[in-house]
Amino acid sequence: MIDLHTHSLFSDGELLPSELVRRAEAIGYQAVAITDHADTSNLDWIIPRLLQVCGDLNAQWPVRAIPGIELTHLPPALIAPLTARARTLGAQIVLVHGETVVEPVPPGTNRQAIEARVDILAHPGLIAEEDVRLALEKGVALEITSRQGHCLTNGHVASLAQKIGAPLVLNTDSHSPGDLVSREKAWKVALGAGLKLEDFEKMLENSWQLLIGA
Ligand SMILES: [Zn+2]
Ligand SMILES: [Zn+2]
Repeated sequence: MIDLHTHSLFSDGELLPSELVRRAEAIGYQAVAITDHADTSNLDWIIPRLLQVCGDLNAQWPVRAIPGIELTHLPPALIAPLTARARTLGAQIVLVHGETVVEPVPPGTNRQAIEARVDILAHPGLIAEEDVRLALEKGVALEITSRQGHCLTNGHVASLAQKIGAPLVLNTDSHSPGDLVSREKAWKVALGAGLKLEDFEKMLENSWQLLIGA
């Protein structure tokens, strides 16, 4: 399993990065990105700490720990400059907290995240077809999620992405140990979104490709 969206206690997750990565390894993960919530107040505080711990863990354990960030509830005009800043600070995976239907994410977030060429637009909610086309053009992956609430629009995201050919990834958005999933559970999430086994395998491959490009 590869999962490029999780939270540690550097934002609203329950676990220290080391325990998060160890628990992921214990249920069969090969790679996990830690992508804590950030805005201008904490971006430069979180990323160096995640770089430190991921480097330390990667020197000891086979599971790959990836330092990332999730830009969250920002005014959309700040997404592009903060994406650039996150990459300068060393984030290997940049996510934007997309327009999920269960939170008042600022309208325009999906579009600005895609224009900024983030790696993954997380839980993009009822994303517009033109934005899915733009995601394909810009190479931004759209997320299928196992996260309660955010998962309500998985079917919409999956069907539009399939129609247009935009890349998908599957993540957990884990905040607690019980949110991490086995590959079997992840496959059920994909099935529930109307995807086939080959689509599921392609999603995992897309995640690996993001790491190679990082
Ligand atoms: Zn959160
Ligand atoms: Zn998240």
